[in-house]
Formats: sequence, structure tokens, C-alpha cells
Amino acid sequence: MSLDFLNPSAPLRDWDNVHVWHPFTPMSAYVRESAPIITGGDGFDLIDSTGRRYLDGISSLWCNVHGHRVPEIDEAVIRQVRDISHSTLLGLSGEPSIRLAKGLVDRAPAGLTRVFYSDSGATTVEVALKMAYQYHRQKPGGPEERDTFLCVGNAYHGDTLGTVSVGGIDLFHRCYRHLLFETVTTPSPVALRIPEGHTHQSWIQHCFDEVSRLVQQHHTRLAGVVMEPIVQGAAGILVHPVGYLKHVRDLCTHYDVPLIADEVAVGFGRTGRLFACEHEEVAPDFLCLAKGITGGYLPLGATLTTDRIFEAFLGEPWEGRTFYHGHTYTGNALGCAAGLASLELFETKNVLANVATCSELISRKLAALNVHPHVAEIRQKGLMVGIELVRDRETLAPFASTIRLGHQVILAARERGVIIRPLGDVIVLMPAPGMPPHHVEHLCDVTIECIDLVTRKVAAGL
Ligand SMILES: *Cc1c(COP(=O)(O)O)cnc(C)c1O
Repeated sequence: MSLDFLNPSAPLRDWDNVHVWHPFTPMSAYVRESAPIITGGDGFDLIDSTGRRYLDGISSLWCNVHGHRVPEIDEAVIRQVRDISHSTLLGLSGEPSIRLAKGLVDRAPAGLTRVFYSDSGATTVEVALKMAYQYHRQKPGGPEERDTFLCVGNAYHGDTLGTVSVGGIDLFHRCYRHLLFETVTTPSPVALRIPEGHTHQSWIQHCFDEVSRLVQQHHTRLAGVVMEPIVQGAAGILVHPVGYLKHVRDLCTHYDVPLIADEVAVGFGRTGRLFACEHEEVAPDFLCLAKGITGGYLPLGATLTTDRIFEAFLGEPWEGRTFYHGHTYTGNALGCAAGLASLELFETKNVLANVATCSELISRKLAALNVHPHVAEIRQKGLMVGIELVRDRETLAPFASTIRLGHQVILAARERGVIIRPLGDVIVLMPAPGMPPHHVEHLCDVTIECIDLVTRKVAAGL
């Protein structure tokens, strides 16, 4: 036994390669790549152990909001550390968790008055699924044994088994299928690759009709409808047509099925509104929030729901109607303190106005790729951008997966001091809502340059 791990001149790259198993990362390729070891942050830059700077083009995986080392959030967390870093919410309370609940309820769509904390995006969805399931067994006029959920094709709601059950990304989920519960799946209403016999318009219409048909057919069995409102992130930044969310809300209202809106990715300004549901004036029965909730500082999640759902869990303690669910770090004080500071910054820094400016800038800059021979589609809502690369723009035939084209593009960007991360051959840009326009412009320029360079090289067979 030694204190070797504290050695200031430790061979961190070697230790990383032999000890750290990275998420969503093919490790045999990773250990050959000498990935930067991030040791600092400064505004919208990441700084590695050699002192090199990189623009953080994906908000540190979709969670950073106002940048790194933001004085107001740093201060709020430090103040909280001096009071207390963590105590439990099981039967006790804490000041930051109360204040943040109030701040979230005041800003969320109408009727979402109850806040259940957890510590990640997946847990917020797990909580909503279990609450919805239990609700039908305890609601007035019940019990009803509703036993399944309706979800959208290619959905992503996290990596725990409950959230994988309502997810639909084959590459991530197929291996676990025997461990999952059954769901009803409606096709994702997007139309890059249209099934035989459909036009663009008839396919989208079919998707609207299909969700109507499925909710009507299964509503007595549906404990809830789960969806990522407006944008399906992990599926490749798929942007839903206007009116789809409202359509699903209307169906849920008509057939009395709770709507679970997973705003883990789209929440906190990323689509141009504080919450994506606001685009269609939709109030869901459950609102799942994580990623950006602490400004990207600390792991925290919150599931908001209505009095109607909440009240079905009331009763004398011995009746057993309680929601028996919780995580040790639920509503952590440091996370909530960061969350409060972040909410305040949305107002004092007028973050949503910056999002509007930068979204418009991105559309303008990326228009240069509209005619690129290897760009199939540029999808964008606010600051969420997916650029899908293909071998053949006409047939939409992909590049061979062995090329790892998307990965090559992000390695080229890294050499140019920009950190981005693809989803397969979809290049994702996800600048922080607070990122100033000149950085966003640079992010677009480098992305365009790298896409062009790498696709040329691959097409030339180099
Ligand atoms: C990232 C994400 C999750 C999972 O959040 P974690 O904090 O990684 O568990 C859930 N839903 C959506 C839409 C996401 O993008």
C-alpha cells in the first residue's frame, strides 16, 4: 500500500489507460488515442494537463450552461460547502432543496407543483415511470392495473434498465432485451429515410395517425406516454415537426394517460425556451430535469409532477401509499445551491436572448454545408445541432462503420482545439446556452473545415 496515487508527477495517461473504464467508449481504440486529460476550465474552454486549451463544443456532454468556473456558481457552491455539503432528504429537509423546488415550480409549465429530487437524468425518468405506474393503482376511482408505457421509436431516456425499456436505440439497447419490460412503440415522426410507398408528407401524417391509433387501442393498459419533447437527442438530434408534442398532449388528455416529458437534454434553454414544452404550450404530467439543472456543475435530477398525481400517494402511513423510492444523494445541497445560482444567471445574463442570437448564427454559418456532397441533413433546434454525414447524398448510403467517420471528424477538430463528440456519423454541436457568439462562430468554422477535410480524405481513399 502506498500514497503513490498522490504523486504530483504521476503518469496519469498510463494510469488512465490501465484503470479507468470510460462510458460509451470503445476502450481498445481509446487507449491508443492519448485523449486529453482535462485539468482545468476557463469560461467556455477546457484546459488539459499540458496546458492546451479546447473550446467546449458539446457543453461537457450537454450539461454546461454558463461556462466553466462561473464566479456566481463557484461562490454559491463554496458558500454551501461552508454550511453543509450533504444531508438526507429522507424525512428531513435542506434549505437549497426547498428554494430550488420553488424556483423550478415558478418557471415550469403550469400545474407542475411537486418536485422529487434524484441525481441523474436516468433516475428522473425511473422516478416518473414508477410514480405513474403506482398512481394508477392508488388513484381515485382505481385501482387500475395499467402495465405498460407508450414510447417513441429511437428514444433515449438513460441507461438503467427501466429507462432502457422505454428507449429504442438498437445499438445501445438490443443486448439487454430479455431483461426489459414490454412497451408499445410509436414511430419517431422524422423523415430523412422514408419507408417505401410514402412521401415525406404522408409518412409524417402516418406518424401522427399511428400515435393516435396506439393510444386509443392501448389506453387502458398505458401507465404513461414517455417522450423527449421537440428534439430526440441521442438518436442523432432528431427534430419533431411542429404540432407533434401538442398532438400527443391532446391524446393523453383525451384518453387520460399521463404524459412524461423527458427534458433532461432539451431543458434549461437549449432549444430557445427555458423548457422545450413551452414551444407548444404543453404542460406535461411529469417533467424530468437533469443535465443543465446545476449549470453543468454537479449531478442532480428533478422530476416535477402535479397535485393530482401527488395526492394519490397520500394517506395514513400504515396504508402503504407512500412512494418508496430514493437515492442516497437525492437533492444534494451542493447541487441545489449550484442550481439556484444557475437559475438566477438565466435572468441576470439574459441567457435566452443569447440562445436566440447564437441559434440564428449557427443556421447562417452551417448553410454552407447544405450543398456538401457528404451532408445528408442538418438538423437544428436552438443550440442543438446534428449534421448527418453520408457516403452518398442521393441514396443516403452511409460510410462503412469501420471508417468511424464521425470519430475522425472529432479527432480533427480536437487537433484544432475544439472538443465535439459525434453520435455515429452525426456530428453533434451543443454549445452552452451562455456561450458568446464569437465562440459559436469559431465552433461552426472548425466543424465545417473538419467535415470537409475528413470526407475528402476518406472519399479519396487515403
Ligand atoms: C442524457 C439523457 C438522459 C440520461 O441522463 P443521465 O444523467 O446520463 O442519466 C435521459 N434522457 C435524455 C433525453 C438524455 O439526453
